[in-house]
Amino acid sequence: MSSAYAGQRICLTTLHGKEQALARPFAVGLGAVLEVSPCDTNRLGTFSGEVERCDSALATCRQKAWLGLERTGLRLGLASEASFGPHPSAPMLPIGQELLVFLDLDRGLTVVEQRLEWRTNYAQRLLRSDEDPSPWLQQVGFPSHGLIVRPASAEAGPWYRDLCSSLDLQNALEACRRADPRGEVWLETDMRAHRNPTRMRSIRRLGVSMVRRLCRRCPSCGSPGWGLVETEPGLPCEACGTATDLTRLEVWGCPHCAHREWHPRRDGLAVAQPVDCPWCNP
Ligand SMILES: [Zn+2]
Ligand SMILES: [Zn+2]
Repeated sequence: MSSAYAGQRICLTTLHGKEQALARPFAVGLGAVLEVSPCDTNRLGTFSGEVERCDSALATCRQKAWLGLERTGLRLGLASEASFGPHPSAPMLPIGQELLVFLDLDRGLTVVEQRLEWRTNYAQRLLRSDEDPSPWLQQVGFPSHGLIVRPASAEAGPWYRDLCSSLDLQNALEACRRADPRGEVWLETDMRAHRNPTRMRSIRRLGVSMVRRLCRRCPSCGSPGWGLVETEPGLPCEACGTATDLTRLEVWGCPHCAHREWHPRRDGLAVAQPVDCPWCNP
């Protein structure tokens, strides 16, 4: 095995069972072993609305990986972070931004892998006092996917979480209705990985991408972690040649040295359709 990390121990900072998604790709692809550090990362923010997020996702993720390294004394760290919300250009569609950060203290590397995830059940809903939640529950995949609920008027909580069955949910809904002056309940999908199998699959896909990146060496300095770092827009319109917002070039880079290479799109697309052109279709 040519992996730079064969036989190495990597600290994964998580409270939420992400080793289920990540241990296998790191073992098979790199020959490395993940060791879980159960740091209380909730103080860095959660999806559940109890803690306000103030840091950018990348800074939070790196800090999370650091916490694990400080605690375990290991030199290789891994942490993941996500945010969810409406798509910027299609607000009816929910989207997830998943991030995975790998730290290599000895080589001085921060390696980042990220993806926009369309496959998410992220949703929120106000339930009226006499409303039946069943259709919505089916849509968001309860009970295989978790929910968190609170009285609608109590933005600070109490939140009810870890609702694993219809009976748990029923009890929580009743408690929330009693606590709310209008009997209304606020429901949100639980986005923590161990309560959200859809998200767990996203993390696994991201882990596979990270392992592939760590297997690639920089053609200039030989450091692991060579891969796509950004994209450049400007794919020309097929009809008039105007530069569109679509990706024209992929920029590949090294996490260690300043080496960059500009590659054509991997899908081979060389021109944009006039429908995507600001001149042909203003
Ligand atoms: Zn055009
Ligand atoms: Zn390099």
